[in-house]
Amino acid sequence: MEDSTAPYCLNSKEVAEATKTLLEQRGVQNEQIAELVMILQRKYYPDLTMEECLENVEAVLQKREVQNAVLTGIQLDMLAEKGELLQPLQNMIRNDESLYGVDEILAFSIVNVYGSIGFTNYGYIDKLKPGILVRLNDRHDGQIHTFLDDIVGAVAASASSRMAHRKQAKREQQLEKMRSAHADESDAAPDNGPESWGWTES
Ligand code: MG
Repeated sequence: MEDSTAPYCLNSKEVAEATKTLLEQRGVQNEQIAELVMILQRKYYPDLTMEECLENVEAVLQKREVQNAVLTGIQLDMLAEKGELLQPLQNMIRNDESLYGVDEILAFSIVNVYGSIGFTNYGYIDKLKPGILVRLNDRHDGQIHTFLDDIVGAVAASASSRMAHRKQAKREQQLEKMRSAHADESDAAPDNGPESWGWTES
């Protein structure tokens, strides 16, 4: 039983674990989110592996902002499933009302963490709705995923952005290394006088 007199103190480990557990309980595996990342990124990186996609999904899910959005969204979905929200919110969330956009706004708090290219990726995956998003958007199984479908799309979009930013940084690092190696080679070349410089005194 929770001690309500104890002063509140954030437990980050508990938040991270609850995020993982709730996603699993709602039938979402990290691997399924990684598949969405693969769909988003394979045209840019033909050698992309599922391991790399998964690694980026896991890194995104470590972010506090992401965990907060996951916990909030899933909680609202679960309460709507039990019919425990106040009306008219209950019916709007149960029916995934198209003029109710708070689910997308919550997903933006995830996409926001990785900058503007995340928005492009999110818009794309939200239109396409491939993989796990097919099931999350199916309203015939009695489950309500009004928030979760956007959250999953946003995590995939963020993982894609994280990957793109990192790959670019790596590319620049390699380029820098090549440049400095080339500069070192030039410095180390023996100086044999004017003939080696390509000209002779006339
Ligand atoms: Mg939605």
